[in-house]
Amino acid sequence: MEKNAITSVIVLDSSGQVLTQSRSLPPSQNVYLRPLPEFNDAPSELVESDWRNKPYLVSKSPVTIQGKTVATVIMFTPSEPIRTAIESLQRILIGVTITSSVASAVLIFIIAKRITRPLVNMKNAVRLLSQNKYNFSLATDGKDEIAELSRSLMDFSHELKHYRLERQDFLAEISHELRTPITYIREYANILRAGAIQDEEEKEKFLDYIFDASNRLYHLSDDLFELVQLDQTNYRIQKESVNLIALIQQAVDEFKLGFAEAEITLQWNPPKKRTINGFIDPVRISQVLVNLLENAKKYTPAGGHVEIKVSELPYAIEVTVSDTGIGIPEENIHQIWQRFYRVEKSRSRAHGGAGLGLSICKRIVELHDGSIRVQSRPGRGSIFTVLLPRP
Ligand code: ADP
Repeated sequence: MEKNAITSVIVLDSSGQVLTQSRSLPPSQNVYLRPLPEFNDAPSELVESDWRNKPYLVSKSPVTIQGKTVATVIMFTPSEPIRTAIESLQRILIGVTITSSVASAVLIFIIAKRITRPLVNMKNAVRLLSQNKYNFSLATDGKDEIAELSRSLMDFSHELKHYRLERQDFLAEISHELRTPITYIREYANILRAGAIQDEEEKEKFLDYIFDASNRLYHLSDDLFELVQLDQTNYRIQKESVNLIALIQQAVDEFKLGFAEAEITLQWNPPKKRTINGFIDPVRISQVLVNLLENAKKYTPAGGHVEIKVSELPYAIEVTVSDTGIGIPEENIHQIWQRFYRVEKSRSRAHGGAGLGLSICKRIVELHDGSIRVQSRPGRGSIFTVLLPRP
């Protein structure tokens, strides 16, 4: 037997006499020096397993010959190294547990901070938004969902700010537009009512002023009603298959007299084909045609010429309204689609225009997935082109 082996081995014969012993043991271990019974069922048994309190783990194994136990091998394994190993394992485990708990706590704290701080900022931002305050900024860099949410909130706040400003402007414009004709009506009616005007011609003039002002109010309320309707998000156009040649013919018939009175020629040569079908809302597209013809009449002096045409392009149906009128200066051309925009306020007002017609046209055409554009030269005239998708 090896001298340095930690485990001590003792072999007893069946009467309990020590046959051999690998190393000496303290006398306290003698209690274990008893042989296994003669007929032993178990191949070996652990007779001492209390490694915590006892100095040795003791196991006994029988040496059997023809089923009879002739000797007993008793092994004493010192429990000290086991205790030391288990204790150091326990220490390591405790260390690892503490370290990982601290690490997780720190990590949770950092993550929570990273998530909660932006969320708290967003909550504050929403509160500011609800109070119509927009002077906040959120950290929007990063690729995670929180950054994405911050970006969306910032976009939303910009849109809301823009919308609120636009609405303010819109309301200011409306009240401005309303005030002038209402003041006219009020003042002139008051003068007439007071009986201060005796001259019949003068009275007529005042009545004309009142009529013009009420006419402007009438057009304004009409246009505003249209705009509000078209701006509703759930507004749907009622599309159907419509012959655009017939639709234009109707508009031309309506305008014939007005153009003749204004001493402007209105040219309309319907294509030979007779039918150009579009999938459109006939009421709305008529409105566009009427608006464009009305503008052409308004902004073309007597003796001028207006032409309306329709043709089929490979990818669209094209309707043009061209005039030889006053034209639009280059620097104003982009603004004419804006609500209430008028190049010459006095001229437009004189015809009852509030600068809403073209913004209504644009909205209608866009609802048809089409486009509208203008080419113009001051003093020479304008061409308005509407493109509608082919069915
Ligand atoms: P309005 O009711 O004032 O005509 P619109 O929205 O229809 O409003 O047009 C906006 C502005 O565009 C007009 O005030 C006018 O200055 C200009 N405009 C529109 N059509 C023409 C045209 N055919 N010729 C010259 N200017 C035009």
